[in-house]
Amino acid sequence: MFADANLLPISALQHLLFCERQCALIHVERLWAENRLTIEGRQLHKKAHDPGKHLSSSRSGVRIARGLELTSHRLGLFGVSDVVEFPAGETGQPPLPIEYKRGQPKKNDADKVQLCAQAMCLEEMLQLPPGIITHGQIFYGRTRRRLEVPLDTSLRCKTEQASIRLHEIIDAGFTPPARREKQCDRCSLLHLCLPDALRPRRTARVYLTEAATIALMDQLNP
Ligand code: SF4
Repeated sequence: MFADANLLPISALQHLLFCERQCALIHVERLWAENRLTIEGRQLHKKAHDPGKHLSSSRSGVRIARGLELTSHRLGLFGVSDVVEFPAGETGQPPLPIEYKRGQPKKNDADKVQLCAQAMCLEEMLQLPPGIITHGQIFYGRTRRRLEVPLDTSLRCKTEQASIRLHEIIDAGFTPPARREKQCDRCSLLHLCLPDALRPRRTARVYLTEAATIALMDQLNP
């Protein structure tokens, strides 16, 4: 069990699954940079967390909680949910966590792991039997649809493993070395991380040309 002081943000799981180095740059070295994708994502979350709608009754007897604080001392995580729907009355139905994302469903499981961590927090906080929240939903801004996500054993194991790895990296203050991968082009920390600087057999001329191109693109796409 983790003490309050050792809890890490659920959102860091996303960074970890995107790239372990990005996760360490943000949560160990405290670097952060915005790009269009991060700004759009933040705006969507702001809407979901509208403080004027913190807790309200809604359609068909479902209570909707927005911006609910979440904690799991077992996983060592804390965070804030976008939306949790609670069936009103004594239905015996578990709550339904809903996460808001910009864009569309990703190829990797980062969004699903984040949602699953929220469900596991809810189960622990509400002292529900582990596994009782069988599914959650992710609303994607680009498709304007909710995707139903089964929170099965495999996803729960992946979430536990990611939480363990997150603590290993952040608790040790370890930043993995840069490795140029496809996702680097979408990374908001590209110009701080400079993965190309460590590419083998790369001349200084090529490095400087590429760095100048990235700076120019940043200016053209602020
Ligand atoms: S630029 Fe690439 S290696 Fe560096 S943090 Fe981003 S994704 Fe990771």
